[in-house]
Amino acid sequence: SAKRRGRRSIAFYRPEITAAAVERLALEEGLRTALAEEQFVVHYQPLVEPQQNGIHAAEALLRWQRGSELVMPGAFIDVIENSDLVVPVGRWVIEAVLRQMRLWREAGLPEIRVSVNVSEPQITAGGLAETIAELLERYDIPARLLHIELIERVLLHDPKRALTELERLRALGIGIALDDFGTGYSSLSYLTQFPVDCLKIDRSFVNDLATDRRSGAIVRAILSMARNLDICAVAEGVEDIRQQRILAAEGCNLIQGYLISRPVSANTLMRLLEAQQRARGSHRSSTRALV
Ligand code: C2E
Ligand code: MG
Ligand code: MG
Ligand code: MG
Repeated sequence: SAKRRGRRSIAFYRPEITAAAVERLALEEGLRTALAEEQFVVHYQPLVEPQQNGIHAAEALLRWQRGSELVMPGAFIDVIENSDLVVPVGRWVIEAVLRQMRLWREAGLPEIRVSVNVSEPQITAGGLAETIAELLERYDIPARLLHIELIERVLLHDPKRALTELERLRALGIGIALDDFGTGYSSLSYLTQFPVDCLKIDRSFVNDLATDRRSGAIVRAILSMARNLDICAVAEGVEDIRQQRILAAEGCNLIQGYLISRPVSANTLMRLLEAQQRARGSHRSSTRALV
């Protein structure tokens, strides 16, 4: 019977569930400590124009320096997003980025735009625009140099709330990018409803761009749609030169991927920007691979 099956499956599954729950709780506690003890680090991945390789922007990507191990977000971001850490960690990332941008400016580096990933609870909790406005003011960074990246799902869950918050951010002058574009439950109508500045074409399409006719067709369709809507198109996960060439020929605005550079520390990005500045000064063209 169902009852018997239910009882048996509970007896069978309970130890496993408990082990997973305990592990998750330990991870959450570790992350709490990471926030309190400044173990989080932001790395930056350059975004360049496909024809030129000059760094125009960077994406801020969170890492956790746990002792000697650098833990990637795939191992913990989900736990953050499903706990009360999501708002404070999100705020920490934004502040770390703005503080860094201030340091780069004081070092005399050329301005670059930085985009920060934002998760759903940060949008729906309310107050994100106020927090960002206060931090922009504190570090004296122009809003146009900050973008936020969110995935399509964030817009569809609670569209009214998302729209209100995005309009507040937009009013400050912050750009909004849709991340992993093409993988969500795309109802394209939201592109007319929400203030979107950039589409970031998901890595999965970019990966197969040169080898799979259908991925190529999807990328071209997204690029043409972005152009017609006057939205900036960014390709993520560019790993080889053929992909770069196609994206350049098809008018993609910016590219990002291991071909150009892996995400790097703030200091390494600073050295890349300095090298670029020197190269420009001496009229040398920038090198293809930065890292
Ligand atoms: P994302 O926002 O889509 O970021 C791009 C991810 O693709 C990064 O992984 C980046 O290292 C990786 N990537 C870039 N170029 C290439 C490439 O050419 N090939 C391959 N295979 N991968 C490439 P990362 O840093 O591990 O971040 C994973 C995800 O974690 C991010 O995906 C984002 O959704 C989330 N995340 C990272 N930092 C934050 C943060 O500060 N806040 C929030 N809420 N989420 C974050
Ligand atoms: Mg992103
Ligand atoms: Mg992405
Ligand atoms: Mg992603």
